[in-house]
Amino acid sequence: MPHPILNVEDVSKTYDGFKAISNLNFYLYEGELRTVIGPNGAGKSTFFDLISGRAKPDTGTLRFGDNTDLTRLNEYEISRLGIGRKFQTPSVFVEHTVWNNMVLSLAGSRGVFASLFQKLDSTGRDRIDELLKLVRLHDKRYWKSGQLAHGEKQWLEIAMLLAMQPRVLLLDEPAAGMTDEETHRTGELLLSLAGKHSLIVIEHDMAFVRQIARDGTVTVLHQGSVLCEGHFDEVQSNPKVRQVYLGRGKTT
Ligand code: ADP
Ligand code: MG
Repeated sequence: MPHPILNVEDVSKTYDGFKAISNLNFYLYEGELRTVIGPNGAGKSTFFDLISGRAKPDTGTLRFGDNTDLTRLNEYEISRLGIGRKFQTPSVFVEHTVWNNMVLSLAGSRGVFASLFQKLDSTGRDRIDELLKLVRLHDKRYWKSGQLAHGEKQWLEIAMLLAMQPRVLLLDEPAAGMTDEETHRTGELLLSLAGKHSLIVIEHDMAFVRQIARDGTVTVLHQGSVLCEGHFDEVQSNPKVRQVYLGRGKTT
């Protein structure tokens, strides 16, 4: 068995007496694209909060890479370590151009002014060119980000995350609010990132899940624990999943 890049064991997190995450075990392997589904309130976003350091578990262990204990690090340290998170709503700097958003992201912790007024070296420029081509925004690199369509803003944010060269990418409903065509393109983009990065994608659009989970594993969260894990078809036909997630009542 290869060593997991992310190793989550027996993790629980309670909010006001409610167990949002309950004895969760989860292992992500290097280069994997894992899709996480589950009904509203299943604990999916809380799971990301715990990995990214936004929230701390009450009990259990979260380990990254070569056994780094994530529970001892803050959100900023975890992001610098190579775990990038994308929230559901895009948070690009709308007054800045697409290009400058990338420059800011590449600079990381350097100040906004220092980043924008210092000349970018050719490696940095090449990297931005490459990433903007990857997300098909190169032709719009001098547009203000605020002028982009919703789907394009999501892609820009993915490119901004990639500029930080994360080993693990956490994406919470990356196709939310997208057209069918944009959703499909997003799926292709995520599939092309697998292997080079390890990804966890939270999603509820089943057509999209089917597309991105093509060769991968789907994890179903329910009441803060893993209900079932497997290929898309196995998960979809699992009676427990149908009961809790697809809301089809008892299956025979
Ligand atoms: P999902 O993303 O699967 O829809 P969440 O992880 O957002 O579910 O939420 C799981 C449960 O944890 C919900 O009942 C939610 O109200 C609760 N919860 C999550 N974060 C907090 C928080 N910061 N404070 C209080 N309750 C929270
Ligand atoms: Mg959520």
